[in-house]
Amino acid sequence: MTFENLSIIPQIREALNKKGYLNPTPIQEKAIPFILEGKDVFGCAQTGTGKTAAFALPILQLFHAKQLTKKTPGIKALILAPTRELAIQIGESFTDYGTNINIKHTVIFGGVSQGNQTRALQQGVDILIATPGRLMDLMNQGFVKLHTIEFFVLDEVDRMLDMGFIRDIQKIITKLPVKRQTVFFSATVPPEIKKLANGLLTNPVSVQVAAVSAPAEAVKQSMYFVEKQDKKDLLKLVLEKENINHALVFMRTKHGANKLVKDLVKFGVSAEAIHGNKSQSARQKALEGFKNRTIKLLIATDIASRGIDVDKLTHVINYELPEVAETYIHRIGRTGRAGEGGTAISFCASEEKGYWKDILKLVGNVVIVETTPKFSNTRPVAADEPERKRNFSNNRRFSGKRKF
Ligand code: AMP
Repeated sequence: MTFENLSIIPQIREALNKKGYLNPTPIQEKAIPFILEGKDVFGCAQTGTGKTAAFALPILQLFHAKQLTKKTPGIKALILAPTRELAIQIGESFTDYGTNINIKHTVIFGGVSQGNQTRALQQGVDILIATPGRLMDLMNQGFVKLHTIEFFVLDEVDRMLDMGFIRDIQKIITKLPVKRQTVFFSATVPPEIKKLANGLLTNPVSVQVAAVSAPAEAVKQSMYFVEKQDKKDLLKLVLEKENINHALVFMRTKHGANKLVKDLVKFGVSAEAIHGNKSQSARQKALEGFKNRTIKLLIATDIASRGIDVDKLTHVINYELPEVAETYIHRIGRTGRAGEGGTAISFCASEEKGYWKDILKLVGNVVIVETTPKFSNTRPVAADEPERKRNFSNNRRFSGKRKF
């Protein structure tokens, strides 16, 4: 299957070539034809599957075609995303894919002053990418009018509900024309998401790739059992042993992320934290530093990390296990993207054993790594797991004599 087979126009195909996209991903293959036909789409796909291009390409193509016949004023497409990082990345995707066509877009999000955003809006945009809070704010001030919207995308809806945006979303929806095309993406589909989708979509086509219970096959997973106080030493050892020069490291709390950065810097490892307490400019700076590899480790909390899209990310490290097992799948989905291999390394302390059990119910193929005698009191955690014998091979690379 090629983008030409999907009827993507040459101007966009040329931009995709430049990005090195040779073939559509499964979600693109499934969703693009329906969106081009004008159908509403309910997409169940995780981040990392190529879902952004699955809606961005047909939107650009449809508007390009319309613009050739008649250019109308006003915002024609609204894309709602849960976090600023994701919104910015969607904006970057539109810039990349639309480089050869004349469709204007802008991104609005909170945490920064609104001046640049309102100026961009006043100059006129075809496509608006927004986080719900800032959008509501600018709508209330009269900078954004949604009555011209023809196309509405809700991205990562489960995350938006998690973050408490349901009221904002409902208010925004009341301002949209009833006659429009709607695309809805969510990684998970709990009942409240189904209900929201039913109220929003008209005769939708459902497209789905890899359920959330199926982590990316391409990701090699390993789980180290280690006491909390020994995690930083183990991290240092793993970075050296596995020759890891670039990794996204997950923490449960902002405080934990800050503390780990301090410890790593003491070890001489370049690291920055990215989380909700950091200013927007500090977050962008950390992300840029990580992307251009001046920073070796980006230490992230789950909310801040959502949507972080780093090309060719080889390693994800779960320094702390997430409380919700599905979050583990989202985390490790940051690597092994678009068919490339990746490695996920996780550390489990005794107090995280409950989280590990939940994760085990969702994933397989995890290599259990026993650690040195210094960590030996964590061994029973692994040995107690009845699933271990059935599902896992044992890896004793770090067992025994090594001192660190
Ligand atoms: P997303 O799920 O939209 O966050 O995309 C995941 C990653 O896959 C991003 O880094 C995209 O740039 C990349 N990507 C999207 N579509 C393709 C494609 N057809 N071929 C190769 N990479 C892609």
